[in-house]
Amino acid sequence: MPWVKVLGGVVGAAALLGLGIILGHFAIPKGANQPASQELDLDPEILETVMGQLDANRIRENLRELSKEPHVASSPRDEALVQLLLQRWQDPDSGLDSAGTSEYEVLLSFPSQEQPNHVDVVGPSGDILFTCRRSEENLTKDQEAPDVLSPYAAYAPPGTPQGLLVYANQGSEEDFLYLYNEGINLQDTIALTRYGGVGRGAKAVNAAKYGVAGVLVYTDPGDINDGKSLPNETYPHSWGLPPSGVERGSYFEYFGDPLTPYLPANPSSFRLDSANASGFPPIPTQPIGFEDAKVLLCNLQGNSAPEDWQGALGCEYNLGPGFRPDGNFSADRTASAVAVPSDGNTLPHALPLLPAPTSLPATSQVNVSVHNRLVLRNSSNVLGIIRGAVEPDRYVIYGNHRDSWVHGAVDPSSGTSVLLEISRVLGTLLKKGTWRPRRSIVFASWGAEEFGLIGSTEFTEEFFSKLQERTVAYINVDISVFANATLRAQGTPPVQSVIFSAAKQIPAPGRSSLSIYDNWIQYFNRSSPVYGLVPSLGTLGAGSDYAPFIHFLGISSMDLAYTYDRSKTSARIYPTYHTAFDTFDYVDKFVDPGFSSHQAVARTAGSVLLRLSDSLFLPLNVSDYSETLHSFLQAAQQNLGTLLEQQSISLGPLVTAVEKFDEAATALGQHISALQKGTPDPLQVRMLNDQLMLLERTFLNSRAFPDERYYSHVLWAPRTGSVATFPGLSNACSRAMNTTSGSAAWAEVQRQLSILVAALEGAAATLRPVAEL
Ligand SMILES: [Zn+2]
Repeated sequence: MPWVKVLGGVVGAAALLGLGIILGHFAIPKGANQPASQELDLDPEILETVMGQLDANRIRENLRELSKEPHVASSPRDEALVQLLLQRWQDPDSGLDSAGTSEYEVLLSFPSQEQPNHVDVVGPSGDILFTCRRSEENLTKDQEAPDVLSPYAAYAPPGTPQGLLVYANQGSEEDFLYLYNEGINLQDTIALTRYGGVGRGAKAVNAAKYGVAGVLVYTDPGDINDGKSLPNETYPHSWGLPPSGVERGSYFEYFGDPLTPYLPANPSSFRLDSANASGFPPIPTQPIGFEDAKVLLCNLQGNSAPEDWQGALGCEYNLGPGFRPDGNFSADRTASAVAVPSDGNTLPHALPLLPAPTSLPATSQVNVSVHNRLVLRNSSNVLGIIRGAVEPDRYVIYGNHRDSWVHGAVDPSSGTSVLLEISRVLGTLLKKGTWRPRRSIVFASWGAEEFGLIGSTEFTEEFFSKLQERTVAYINVDISVFANATLRAQGTPPVQSVIFSAAKQIPAPGRSSLSIYDNWIQYFNRSSPVYGLVPSLGTLGAGSDYAPFIHFLGISSMDLAYTYDRSKTSARIYPTYHTAFDTFDYVDKFVDPGFSSHQAVARTAGSVLLRLSDSLFLPLNVSDYSETLHSFLQAAQQNLGTLLEQQSISLGPLVTAVEKFDEAATALGQHISALQKGTPDPLQVRMLNDQLMLLERTFLNSRAFPDERYYSHVLWAPRTGSVATFPGLSNACSRAMNTTSGSAAWAEVQRQLSILVAALEGAAATLRPVAEL
């Protein structure tokens, strides 16, 4: 594939060359016998070589191996993959300088094998009128593999609540409030909710506040399949979620090992009693497929649910409580027939309904039987290191999790396939003596992410100081391909420029006349006051292992993937997410046939990695933080200004602090530009790079959000207030709004403002010349 034509930049001219010539460059060993130079800078030829060698077919073969069997955290197959990664990273021809594992003893949650979780409709005399599937239908033989974990809500407590069913939409606080205001007595009911809106665990937390006894969660075909729900419209006939597919997931509210917050989960560490640990759902909860949800939901009585609560199950959604007197339950899967048929496709779609049960369904209830168990298990991280030639004590970390819910072809193996291909190409150059990075590169395969980012969080707890002192940036590639339309990047402002530089020099898959950047800007863009129209970078929440790096350690982080054309699908996420249908065949046929999007992500992430590890000056543009600060400040002035004035609270010091930041960032940028024209003194380079690296740390305040776990970044902590400004200020104002002057809530607003001013002043001080205080 020829390289896309690009304008400008140091690699511009070289990028016009074809792949043949690129490989030609590689044939001439370069710098093999030269001593590491303090001026060692990014080598465009090495970059081209790496881009040319990242191979789509090898990524495909990696994925086939990684997703061959289910590999939930701590399972034998998960441990086998630990060995696979070690073997690759210790390979004499394509491995890294060193590789090893570290184990933590962490609290996981699994369904009981002896007592499977089940959900039944129970008649007045205790007879079972309907029972939900206990496992997904075996459509492609992958679903009957012995280690397929039955659908469950990890960390939901055991229990067997039974009650009348209500429909509670997405299970948000407003949804339950609506039901309450409708006069529905929620006490001891079972609430059926759909995925989306709020987090998994929040559905049970909100429900319990209203006395709900148990929660069911399903995926509505309107939210995941663009309305399609028939077997012949879904996988294996399309990428749609089959009717029996169930999204598994962690219902734990925080991240990290639940028993050792802020401490690494070593065997000797202090542990909370699991009965006292917080963040677990308060009531039994179980996910089900939309095929079963349809039977429950379409038989509900009561008022019709609001328009925006309706979905695509093909019936009117009512609120309940309880079922209609003429309700009808397809009885093909009553207690005696719960096992998944081994012949696969025959059940249950076309079976006739049995004669109406003798007892009236109106008084029938739903029983939710959950038998999940909490267990301490060993989970491993695998780390592989390429030692830096000039600055071995500066780390660029590139990571992804290894554990999946079932086969996990997309989540997370699409990311690990890319990770392994990047490490193979770099490892080969390393072993041939062709290249060694300026800074150290650390590759990481995290354990137990699906349960709550556990492996990565424990790692940041164990090496807190070392990582904070020495890590330049963290690159995360979890799901590398959601779909094959466009790049999607999330990150803090300093990483924007390096992602842009990489994306401008790589051809977009399937559209080789366009760069990834030019393709990206057509899908996600924004108008920047500094640059004009640019692709828009998303912000980092806590969806993957970057969370402890950015929120807890304050390390500039990013997450990269290829994703959807939003004009073609409104799916919440790729349809087989966390189900037994997320398989190699699914990716190979429907997500990325040919693996060109995987290759595009490998090239983008590989280029970003090389730029961060090899550039003389770190390619972190700290002045890009100014745009964020100004937009937050403007939102505060416009939406909170009057309110704050009434309380005699001034935004003046914040305005001054933002100005100081602007000045310091601009001056630093000019200083670096000037130095880049000459041959700068190595110590001067190092001092400036430390300023760039440490900027993100200055936004941390570990006392800012005492109610949050790990969140201490004053710009990116979770925002619950409606004003899109600094999260601490937004949240404090929304709490104070209806309180009187002099209340504790208004004092908190003032405290949050002072925290911000101090952080921004500190940030500016870090960017100013080091000799000035
Ligand atoms: Zn993942």
